[in-house]
Amino acid sequence: MKKWSAARAPAGRIAYVNGRYLPFAIAGVHIEDRALQLGDGIYEVCNVISGRPLDEEPHLDRMERSLRELGMDMPMSRAALKLVMREMIARNRIADGFLYIQVTRGAVKRDHIPPPPGALRPTLIMTMRTQDPGALNQRMEKGIAVSSQPDIRWGRCDIKTVQLLPNLLAKQAARKMGAFEAWLVDDDGYVTEGSSTNAWIVDKDGTAITRDLSHAILPGVTRRIILEAMAEAQLKVVERKFTIAEALAAREAFLSSATGAAVPVVAVDGQTIGNGAPGALTRRIRELYFARACVKPDLKNA
Ligand code: PLP
Repeated sequence: MKKWSAARAPAGRIAYVNGRYLPFAIAGVHIEDRALQLGDGIYEVCNVISGRPLDEEPHLDRMERSLRELGMDMPMSRAALKLVMREMIARNRIADGFLYIQVTRGAVKRDHIPPPPGALRPTLIMTMRTQDPGALNQRMEKGIAVSSQPDIRWGRCDIKTVQLLPNLLAKQAARKMGAFEAWLVDDDGYVTEGSSTNAWIVDKDGTAITRDLSHAILPGVTRRIILEAMAEAQLKVVERKFTIAEALAAREAFLSSATGAAVPVVAVDGQTIGNGAPGALTRRIRELYFARACVKPDLKNA
């Protein structure tokens, strides 16, 4: 059998598992890890630009909140987590990519009842992957299509858990319809969010609209950064529900996530939005997002 050593592993192939940096081929968790058997865990995806994690604090804030909602503590201090994140970026030799962080309740004999807080060592995993700038650029230039799908998820979509089955089934259904992303529609006919993105439209007056925060959507870090950047730039934005009919009548639309910033949406359910090309406001928001990210002191002075 081929012998692996971390030092010889190809770029992007080092995983962190509970205190150890391991080549992918031998990295693994216990078969009774509660995330594997019960979906009992949470995750974060952080954009890495020029070797620095972007919006690190908001991601760690959300991670702490997700864990709290599950009755769990952070697996280590924030300072220690940040060190591991930097070590992962260095060991994987990836300057621009995505860092995946997952925390599960740990490994224990399968039982629905979670062990009391502190009784179990949580499982902390990190992996990294590179960006595909070609695919991303194409999505930016041409825009993407979305397909509306029923939102069949649970009542706490604000927690970033690893339980993503309804999300991936919706995405799969959207892909079958020739769309890149699914826009999930609640029982009252309103769009909640995308299967792995937040959803936005821009109305005829140029006001950006995105669903207000509640248990029905994930509080996207990119959504928050865009809202702050738009407020600073004095651009019009409203947090409220919208329907697919409103999206079809919109001037432009886009989706937001750490993996794509703001990606233009040019068609919904096979019907063109606006003039069918990426919108000017989406482009501006994208610029604001990156301009703001790049002037962060921790990025500039590192
Ligand atoms: N909504 C859902 C359901 C998601 O899974 C994600 C990201 O994974 C987002 C929104 C966007 O969140 P963020 O901007 O923090 O990447």
